[in-house]
Parts: sequence; structure tokens; C-alpha cells
Amino acid sequence: MIISVASGKGGTGKTSVAVNLALLWAEDKNIQFLDCDVEEPNANIFLKCPLDKKEKLNLLKPVIDSDKCIYCQKCAQVCIYNAIAIVSPRPPQTKGKALVFYELCHSCGACSLVCPAGAITETEVEKGVVEEGQCGNIHFIRGLLRESESSPTPLVKAVKKKIDPRKDVIIDASPGTSCPVVEAVEGSDYTVLVTEPTPFGLHDLRLAVEMCRGLKIKFGVVINRSDLGGRQVYDYLKKEEITLLSEIPFSHELAYRYSQGKTFVDLAELKEIFVALKEKIEAEV
Ligand code: SF4
Ligand code: SF4
Repeated sequence: MIISVASGKGGTGKTSVAVNLALLWAEDKNIQFLDCDVEEPNANIFLKCPLDKKEKLNLLKPVIDSDKCIYCQKCAQVCIYNAIAIVSPRPPQTKGKALVFYELCHSCGACSLVCPAGAITETEVEKGVVEEGQCGNIHFIRGLLRESESSPTPLVKAVKKKIDPRKDVIIDASPGTSCPVVEAVEGSDYTVLVTEPTPFGLHDLRLAVEMCRGLKIKFGVVINRSDLGGRQVYDYLKKEEITLLSEIPFSHELAYRYSQGKTFVDLAELKEIFVALKEKIEAEV
């Protein structure tokens, strides 16, 4: 069973839900926890797994030899990410310019395939690192995107390659509904969408719901800080017939524990909420 935890909006408490669910799930079985929020993987602040295995993820990026380039523009035309600009020579100059914007390149390899002059070679560039560790029954895996790198999707893919089909898996996706989030939740048996009862929460929840419906993944919603805000999220869930999995009320104690990197399931009232949430998810899958 693969359960992903996502949220349209950042700051809703998604990672807290994912981590505390994982701790509960791991009480009686071995599970995997995948932190796919590779731009800001912070689940281990709470889990505190020693990360003793690290693998670099290198991707190929194009290098253009301007002496061989005939300025035909084919590479720039094939690149759907606009990562190449070719400036043709202006007489009396005989040389133009070939520019590659590495931050935009998605390493698809199309440009080197179409180049008629053999002017494009590929070089390895470090995208990030995949780190692993074991703490109790949790096999923890996370991706860490290298600073200055954009497009985290390949790293999310690399983290997901570590999924062991014999184990239950909890995936912490990044906030939003962009490509890395789609990559993280795709293939899940169920997605838990964490939101808050505010207009911003509702706006981004709608997007996350559309994403799950588009991907045909079953999902339900957890409302965090449920006693702060209005009723719009509740009205929306009712109208759309979306399962309300759980409500977590605001508490200063939880906020304080969060700021100290502590988990919640050792608090009796919170454990009760998370046990009910876990049972509801199991019934829904
Ligand atoms: S490898 Fe793909 S994404 Fe990168 S520059 Fe070439 S065509 Fe564009
Ligand atoms: S496809 Fe090759 S020859 Fe044509 S502009 Fe690009 S690098 Fe130059």
C-alpha cells in the first residue's frame, strides 16, 4: 500500500501528518518513508534517522561546440523548455553564439539527437543526492536537490525507485500541484490532502483535488488547525462529496513541539486522532 500525503498549499502541516502517520504505521510493521519534498526535505527533523547511505544523482546536459555549430536552430526548436538560444552570425561577423540555460534544461537529450553537425555532446551534472537510513521500523529515504538546481522531478523519480513493493510506503510530497508533486503522488493507492480552513487553503485544495481526480487516485482530506478559520472548506467538501478524514484542532502545545522538532503521537489526545485517521485511510483504500 502506498499512501501519499500532499497539500495544495505550503504550511498546512503536511509533513507533520505524514511523519506522525508513519510513526503509527511503523509501530507493528516495517515501512518505508519517502521524503519527496526534495527542495526542502524536512521530515527527518522529526524522524531523526541517521542517514548512512548516499548516492549522487547525475544527469546529462548538453555542451555545444561553437566551432562545429552551423546555427541551424534545430536544437533550440526541439527544446520545449527553451533551454537553448542560438544567435546566428551577423555579417561581417562569421561567428554566432550558442547558449544553453542549464537551469531550464530537463536532460531529455533531444537536442543532441537532432543536431546535424555533431556539435552537441553531453556532460554529467550533479542534480542532487538520495539519502537513506533506518530508524526502528522505518526505512527512511529522501532526495536533496543541489542548490541552484531547478526541476526537481528527476530526483523525485530517483527517490521513488527505492520503493520496496513488499512494504507499506508513506510519501511526503512537496506542496503545490506542479510536476514534482504529480510525480510524487502518481501510483499511490491513496492520497491524504492536508489543508487549513482559510480562503487560501480552499483555493489550493481545489487544485489538489483536481490533480487527484486527474490522476484517478482515491483521496480524502485532513483539516489542520480546524478551529481557526471559516466553514468554506467544510462546505466545499460536502458539496463535492469528498471524505473528511480528520480534523486536528490548533494547540499552542503542538506548535511548540513542532518548533522543537518533536512528534505528536506520544500525546494521548493526538494519538487518538491519528489512530482514527489511520483506520479511516485503511477503510478507504
Ligand atoms: S537536453 Fe532536452 S531540455 Fe536540455 S537543452 Fe537539450 S532539448 Fe532542451
Ligand atoms: S542543432 Fe547543432 S548545428 Fe544546429 S544550431 Fe544547434 S548546435 Fe548548432
